[in-house]
Amino acid sequence: MYQNVKNVGNYMIGAGALAQLDDLLLPRRNAMPDNPMVFFFDRFFERTGLLNTVTVDEWDGRFFVDTKDEPTCESVDSMTEKVKAFLNGRQPAALIAFGGGSTMDTCKCVGNLLTNPGNAADYQGWDLVKNPAPYKVAVPTLSGTGSETSRTAVMINKEKGLKLGMNSDYSVFDQVVMDPKLTATVPRDQYFYTGVDTFMHCFEYLDGQFRNAITDAYAEKALALTEEVFLSDEMMSDKNREKLMIASYKGGLAAGTVGLVHPLSAGLSIVLGIHHGLANCYALSVLGEFYPDQQKIFNDMLKKQNISLPKGVCKDLTNDQYNALYEASIVHEKPLINKLGDKYKDILTKEKVIELFKAM
Ligand code: NAD
Ligand code: ZN
Repeated sequence: MYQNVKNVGNYMIGAGALAQLDDLLLPRRNAMPDNPMVFFFDRFFERTGLLNTVTVDEWDGRFFVDTKDEPTCESVDSMTEKVKAFLNGRQPAALIAFGGGSTMDTCKCVGNLLTNPGNAADYQGWDLVKNPAPYKVAVPTLSGTGSETSRTAVMINKEKGLKLGMNSDYSVFDQVVMDPKLTATVPRDQYFYTGVDTFMHCFEYLDGQFRNAITDAYAEKALALTEEVFLSDEMMSDKNREKLMIASYKGGLAAGTVGLVHPLSAGLSIVLGIHHGLANCYALSVLGEFYPDQQKIFNDMLKKQNISLPKGVCKDLTNDQYNALYEASIVHEKPLINKLGDKYKDILTKEKVIELFKAM
C-alpha cells in the first residue's frame, strides 16, 4: 500500500516574517467573526516582549504552555479542558502555537481533541483521529523537532510507560510562519540538543530500510544543513539560525521511521524525565557500534560548539529502573526493525540494552 502523504498548507520563512501574522489571520477573523482565536505560548514568552508585537484581541484566548516537563497525556487533557472552558461551546477561528516541539505538539493535540470525543490517550497511535481539527498555525521559536511540519504530536503516557504521538493528517499545521529572529534567545545548550534532533531523525531514517525517494530527498538535505550548522564556527549566527529552521522544516517532512536512537531516548524520557533532545544525545553517545560514522560527526559537533554531555546519567539506578528503561525502549518495534531487522531482539537482548544505558 502506498502512503498518501499530507504536507503543511502554507509556509513563510524569513527574518521578520512574524510581522505578517496579523495579515495571515485576518481572513480567519473575517470568516468567523463570532469566534475567538486561541494562542498557545511557550511559558518563556510570558516574560518577554513578544506578546506586544502580536495582535491578540482582548476576547482571544491566551494560554501558556509549561515546558518544564514535556507534554504528557495528562498535561494535554488538562490544557484541553481549559481551552474548552474558555471556548464555551464555540469552535476557535484558529489555533496559533508559539514555541518549540512541546508547545506545537500541545496545540496539535488540543486541536484534535476539540473536534473528537474522549481523551488524549485514546488517540496515541496511527490514524485514530476521525474528525478534522480547527485551522492551526505554527510559529516555531526553537528549531529541530520538525513538529511544525510533521503529522505527529508526541505525548508521554505515564500509565502505559509509553512515549507515542497522535499520528494523523489532522495533526498537520495549516500554516507555518518561520521567523529566525525568534530563535535568538534560545540558550546555547538547548539550541544544540533540539537542533541535532533533526540530524538524528534524518540519519536514522536514511540508515533504515523503510524509505521512499521523496522523503529521502528531504532527509538528505536536512541532514546536510544540520552538519553545516553544527560544524561551523558559530551555530547561532543569523544565517545558521535560518538554516536550522529550514533543516527542521524539511526534517519534519522527512519524519519517517527512525532507528535505535529514538527508542533509547524514549526510555530516558519516560523513566528519568530527560528531555527529548538531550536524551537523543545520550543515546547516540553509546551507539557507536551501530552508527560509527554518525557518532563521529556528532562528537565533532559537540566539540566544535563546545557543548558538554555529562557522563553517568544512568549510573546507580535500581534494577526496577533498568528494567523500565529496557521495556520503554524495546516496545518501539518498528524503528528497531528498521535498523536491525525482524530479529532485533537477538541483538538487543535485555542485558545488552541495560549495558548501553549503564554506559551513558
Ligand atoms: P521544548 O519545546 O520542550 O522547549 C525546550 C525549552 O526551550 C523550554 O524551556 C522553552 O521554554 C525553551 N524555549 C523555546 N523557545 C525559546 C526561545 N525562543 N527562547 C528561549 N527559550 C526558548 O523543546 P523541543 O526540543 O523543541 O521539543 C521537545 C518535544 O518535542 C518533546 O516532547 C519531543 O518528544 C517532541 N518532538 C515532537 C516531534 C514531532 O514531530 N511532533 C518530533 C520530535 C520531538
Ligand atoms: Zn526526535
